[in-house]
Amino acid sequence: MPPRDPSPVSAAVTRAGVPHGATEQGWLPDCVYTGEKFETGLAFFADLTGRITRFSREPADLAAARRLDGQAALPGLVNTHSRSFHRVLRGRTERRGAPGDPLAGWAAALGRAAGRATGEEIFDAARMAFMEMLLAGITCVGEFHFVSPAPEGATTAEPNFVRREIIRAAHEVGIRLALLNVAPERAEPFVRDVENLRVLVEKEFLADEVWLGLGADLPAVLSVDQLKVVAMYARAQRMRWHAHVAPLPGESLPAGRTPLAQLAELGFLDKRFTAVHPIQLTDDDVKLLGTARATVCLCPITAQNFGIDTAPAEKLLAAGTGIALGTDSHAQIDLLKEARLLEYQLRVQHGQRGVIAAEPATALFHAATVTGARSLGATGGALEVGRPADFFTVNLFDPSIAGAEPGALLANIVFALERRAVRDVWIGGRQRVVAGRHPLHGPIVGRFVEAQRRIWST
Ligand SMILES: [Zn+2]
Repeated sequence: MPPRDPSPVSAAVTRAGVPHGATEQGWLPDCVYTGEKFETGLAFFADLTGRITRFSREPADLAAARRLDGQAALPGLVNTHSRSFHRVLRGRTERRGAPGDPLAGWAAALGRAAGRATGEEIFDAARMAFMEMLLAGITCVGEFHFVSPAPEGATTAEPNFVRREIIRAAHEVGIRLALLNVAPERAEPFVRDVENLRVLVEKEFLADEVWLGLGADLPAVLSVDQLKVVAMYARAQRMRWHAHVAPLPGESLPAGRTPLAQLAELGFLDKRFTAVHPIQLTDDDVKLLGTARATVCLCPITAQNFGIDTAPAEKLLAAGTGIALGTDSHAQIDLLKEARLLEYQLRVQHGQRGVIAAEPATALFHAATVTGARSLGATGGALEVGRPADFFTVNLFDPSIAGAEPGALLANIVFALERRAVRDVWIGGRQRVVAGRHPLHGPIVGRFVEAQRRIWST
């Protein structure tokens, strides 16, 4: 799939954006988050492939590094659950729906939009959502991909057409992408298509730029036999797999056991598995997830937008399950806000501060970075030697966080940062956002506005 790169890399610049002749590039922000704390007077360096090679306090290194004045650097955020096409629904379903049915109205609007979308609108919506993610400091996204019905332009001759449009969108914007392909009712042709795509993707992209995983909607869509086909393929390819696992309130569980108990019985509950915004979790489910060292991805803005309660994150963490975060419906794209709303929701439930952890900012930031990267099989998530230089900087003089000394900075960022305070974003040592602006801002927004007009005009 020849990706159409809008900004071809000049001959004088390597893949990582390092000037010709140089073997490394370095950065010196006012402070840098190295996991659990911010450190001052510390520069970090990346090699030609965009990997972090070293941290240094040597005066010569501090002088050689690019000075990021008035900024703090943090590892890029990982958005574990995105449905990019849902970006087109923003602000279009915010009215009273049927009592007790959180999906009413929204599902009808989605059906209408999907029915009108061609590959072009899907591409435009994905590019818009991915650019907004970069502007929020997100450097890696897990796209839980399923569009129904098949849009115009998608043919049986090219069943991966829409998936390739999503990949092209991520590549143009410059965000790392785990494309989690959601299995339809018939698993065999699906697995064949995904395998064809996997071969193509591995040829065209670096392994940590675009990679594939699998998704499922449980318990509704797949029969046990079909589920086995998908899970076996995921295991054979060592792919991450994510599933919506619990029914919505009011939907009943299949007789006997919960979807998670069923997965555990089949041997498919393991550390490569992520349960996405589970709603009804039994105490046994919590234990099963913890024992399997699986991940749970929560999307508090979407959940609250739909009027759905959150899963018992504090119990899941205590049981050994990782908690990751996602922007799901894109009612808003702000992963730090997802983090703070998770803690706030738990505070409402418990009447206490610091429910998710005694130091909630550290735990929530861990969820938005390290755990997300683990859930997606991404190489980032932390600023450490050997990992890619994926990071964002915040303006320390932004009114939303001004006056926070290093010891109070993370809590200021997690609980109060306004998205506009995100200044620069670097992925694999290449700058993707400069002073709060993406270089393709104009065309991306312009095309999205046109796409919205086509989708919603009567
Ligand atoms: Zn979802």
